[in-house]
Amino acid sequence: MTQSKRRRVIAGNWKMFKTQAETRAFFAAFNPSVAGVTDCDIVIAPPSINIPAAAAATKGTHIAISSQNHYWEKEGAFTGEISAGMVVEAGCRYAIIGHSERRHIFGETNEMVFKKTKSALAAGLTPIVCIGEMLADRQAGRTENICQTQFQGSVGALTPEEFSRILVAYEPVWAIGTGHTATPEIAAAVHGFVRQCAAEMFSAGHAAAIRILYGGSVKPDNIQGLMAQVEIDGVLVGGASLDPKSFATIVKDWQR
Ligand code: PEP
Repeated sequence: MTQSKRRRVIAGNWKMFKTQAETRAFFAAFNPSVAGVTDCDIVIAPPSINIPAAAAATKGTHIAISSQNHYWEKEGAFTGEISAGMVVEAGCRYAIIGHSERRHIFGETNEMVFKKTKSALAAGLTPIVCIGEMLADRQAGRTENICQTQFQGSVGALTPEEFSRILVAYEPVWAIGTGHTATPEIAAAVHGFVRQCAAEMFSAGHAAAIRILYGGSVKPDNIQGLMAQVEIDGVLVGGASLDPKSFATIVKDWQR
């Protein structure tokens, strides 16, 4: 594929970190340092309870807020859950879905990820649908098989129009929070494979347009190598997104 025209996305996933006060302090430091950045989409996913604080702290900026998880029903007797409509009302524009921690700690299946993706789209959110193999899968040569099964099961039954509104994040589980980043070449090869799956599932046009982010120990010192790959349309950053200075460096330095 030649030089991509796909707009880059730099997204941060805070997981279960930061209080409301820490959320405000983060944006007070982060917002001015990325105020001049217009060449990529910037997204931050705080814990659900801090979405309103994050939305208020980013009002009037081009930083978008994402949920980390939601339930697919609109409302009902689902104690502890929140709906896609609720996170939109609280200020989200994106929804992370099927993160490996959701899949492997909380038992989310591809079918659940599909339902969450559908409901996010219906609420007007941009889903960031995560897929990725575990270390044992990679070592057994099953990376493509796992990614294809997760991709097909999570988004294969969307309509073509719905598929054109999602982002995908390839996050090899062995690289998340471990300090072991996939090399740019390894990540790009899987992205190319996922794009090929998208062509088979939908169309060549859909495959060329879909934005595929890489996630797994992205840091200021490896962002440029990853983003130099035409197949890598952005990153989903965990640990390094918690520090305003380091996340601002990732946002600003990806194409230097
Ligand atoms: C993540 O949580 O999606 C992630 C990639 O984490 P880290 O950057 O810390 O590996």
